[in-house]
Amino acid sequence: MNILFVASEAVPFAKTGGLADVAGILPRIMAKTETVSLFIPDYQTESIERTAALIVDRFLVKIGKRNFPAMIKRKNVGKNFFIFFVTQDLFFSRKFLYGDSSGDYLDNFYRFLFFQLAIVEFVKRNKMSFDIVQLNDWQTALIPLFLKLQAVEPELKRAITFLTIHNLGYQGVFDSFYFKEIGLPDYLFSPEYLEFYGGINFLKGGIVFADHLLTVSPTYAKEIMTPEMGFGLDGLLKRYAFKLSGILNGVDYSLWDPRRDPLIFRRYSPASLSRKKKNKIRIFEEFGISYDARRPLVVVITRLAVQKGIELLFEAFSELMKEDLFLMILGTGDRIFEEKLKKLAASFKIKMKFFNFFDEKMAHRLEAAADILLMPSLYEPCGLNQMYSLKYGTVPVVRATGGLDDTVEDFDKITRTGTGFKFREIDRNCFLSAVYRALELYPDKENWETIQRNGMSADFSWDRAAGEYVTLYKKMLAQE
Ligand code: ADP
Repeated sequence: MNILFVASEAVPFAKTGGLADVAGILPRIMAKTETVSLFIPDYQTESIERTAALIVDRFLVKIGKRNFPAMIKRKNVGKNFFIFFVTQDLFFSRKFLYGDSSGDYLDNFYRFLFFQLAIVEFVKRNKMSFDIVQLNDWQTALIPLFLKLQAVEPELKRAITFLTIHNLGYQGVFDSFYFKEIGLPDYLFSPEYLEFYGGINFLKGGIVFADHLLTVSPTYAKEIMTPEMGFGLDGLLKRYAFKLSGILNGVDYSLWDPRRDPLIFRRYSPASLSRKKKNKIRIFEEFGISYDARRPLVVVITRLAVQKGIELLFEAFSELMKEDLFLMILGTGDRIFEEKLKKLAASFKIKMKFFNFFDEKMAHRLEAAADILLMPSLYEPCGLNQMYSLKYGTVPVVRATGGLDDTVEDFDKITRTGTGFKFREIDRNCFLSAVYRALELYPDKENWETIQRNGMSADFSWDRAAGEYVTLYKKMLAQE
């Protein structure tokens, strides 16, 4: 198969979130068996600058009445994998990808319209053809429409387009004024197609025109069709339910595996679980906290955002503090949450620590040291920390939503199956009862080790995810 993969970020070149992992890792794995061309904007990050890419084309992209110069650079990675950078200094040579502390960049409409038009133009000019076009999020969502409307090679017109929605909370909504800049026929500015409450919605265009829609977990695919999690698009998604499915993201076990993690104090495996304790002792020593093996270390590692259920954590906080546990929170984000956590940490010095910074190493050390991870997210398209926790023998307590529901299995004491503890309702008492179930099991060493080992043996690798994508592509091609 010949696959075109388009994303607005990809590791190791540029990253703000999970999308970068997907776009950096999936195409690379797919390229073991298929031919893949990955396109990303040239943000001129250090990592892109270090990549010896060749200039392969220059042309103009027309938006409204203006022409913007585009340059395309290509880096060949082996025989089957090509990375293309779309260069436009005015649009992409910036410190951040989508915006700064004062909000989204005001010209995001132009930046990502340009990105998409430049790719379509380049592919046309160079008579490239693909079997599969894999798009990701709103920044790429108009490509299926452009391919359908523009005069492209017949092979390219036949390509099957897939759009993966990584987080429905971001849709690329712009003022209706911009519609004429895209140069599309007028009928497309209607609620059937791109119009969304009087504005234009890029993601909506993708939902309507892509041949197949994906989300990053099977449960999230169902949830986005509900009013609570549909961000205004649930009705439309329900209409297109026949082409919507979910494939769980993967975990990079070359970075997140306690057997070979260079960032943790003592490495361990399911067969040497007792060594995990050394990581906990070490972290307690470092922060001058008295260590007691009977007291579980409970951690939260998160963006401090409403989505992550931080308010639920606050509601449950005083009850949590009555338990014999130690709480460590690593997180940055909303100022109000940061201030509140600082205050709580000052009043509960002997029971909690708040690390208000972003530190990859600390995230690894906490995963290795902790007994329990809390993730009470209101919604979670996939979620990574619960999967890291499983690998590190840290038992996750999660709300049963999205990827959390798909990756954590409730522990059953009788069958001794399951990997964590789940609760369903967005409710303080439900959250607390899941925490209590974990705390109750903790002293029962035999069962605790069982739940740890169950989690450590789960496989959420990228190889599995890539396999599922390729199988789906083949199935869709066979149906053509
Ligand atoms: P989201 O992408 O919605 O923030 P995920 O669970 O999918 O949530 O991914 C979060 C990632 O960010 C994880 O790798 C987690 O370890 C990391 N992370 C979040 N906050 C911090 C922090 N303060 N320091 C280090 N890593 C963090």
